[in-house]
Amino acid sequence: MIDLHTHSTVSDGTETPTELVEAAAAAGVDVLGITDHDTVGGWDEAATAAERLGIALVRGIEISCTFGEAGVHLLGYLTDQHDPDLMAELARARASRATRLLRMVERMADDGIPISHDDVLAQVADGATPGRPHIADALIANGVIEHRDEAFEDWLTDESPYYVTHYSPDPVRAVELIRAAGGVPVIAHPFTRTRVDTVTDALVEQMTAAGLVGLEAFHRDHGPDEIARCRWLADRLGLVLTGSSDYHGVGKQNRLAENTTAPEVLATIEAAGTGVTAVLRP
Ligand code: AMP
Ligand code: ZN
Ligand code: FE
Ligand code: FE
Repeated sequence: MIDLHTHSTVSDGTETPTELVEAAAAAGVDVLGITDHDTVGGWDEAATAAERLGIALVRGIEISCTFGEAGVHLLGYLTDQHDPDLMAELARARASRATRLLRMVERMADDGIPISHDDVLAQVADGATPGRPHIADALIANGVIEHRDEAFEDWLTDESPYYVTHYSPDPVRAVELIRAAGGVPVIAHPFTRTRVDTVTDALVEQMTAAGLVGLEAFHRDHGPDEIARCRWLADRLGLVLTGSSDYHGVGKQNRLAENTTAPEVLATIEAAGTGVTAVLRP
């Protein structure tokens, strides 16, 4: 069982990297991908836990990119965790996320919602990548809502009057950065239904020319039409199709290994990595 997309408290998951690996082992996952937003900060702890529990670990990241109006999430597997260009880009995104969260909270507080910047900071683990789910967690702590989902129904959507963007790289540049760091780029949930048509065929073509390896077709945000579109693109452009849970602990409904990746696809990803970071195997 191969699940290549999960989050820990190093971004907006609710389990520490150790707890995440423990949960994966308990769920029967054989190969786990840890892909926190815009950070490699959970890799070392996850590696220690994976070795102890005897499961394989694919170290990765999920980069939030912007293409026009749309957000595009790019998974990067097996990148060099010391690549200066990639690390600088991730640090820039994290810094901008922190400012952006403050501005969102200001807008909410100005509108009478009982929340402060300190309330939100209290929800972000030390050094973790801050995100909208941490605002939801502060609202839960303040007794305003009971689950993150409630905040994502209105206040925290991209259409919300409180929404503020943050710095994020262009998706073609992000593919180039991941490749230059020896890693393997795969578009996360490319056709998640949002405000705007997220990923166009032309964008996938440009990203493929820059070194894209795959599309995450099997994901809870995709129905049969989205999967069919992934298949069509993959056949035409020579991409692989992955599947994963996008697990966030109790913060999201997604369950570990609810979607999985085929072993031969993992083999292609592993072979496409050209850098110092390998899949860790027990
Ligand atoms: P941000 O990274 O700040 O743009 O926030 C987006 C993140 O919030 C994504 O990683 C989503 O997985 C997460 N998210 C979206 N909807 C929900 C939800 N209903 N409950 C919890 N997390 C969510
Ligand atoms: Zn997330
Ligand atoms: Fe995502
Ligand atoms: Fe994700």
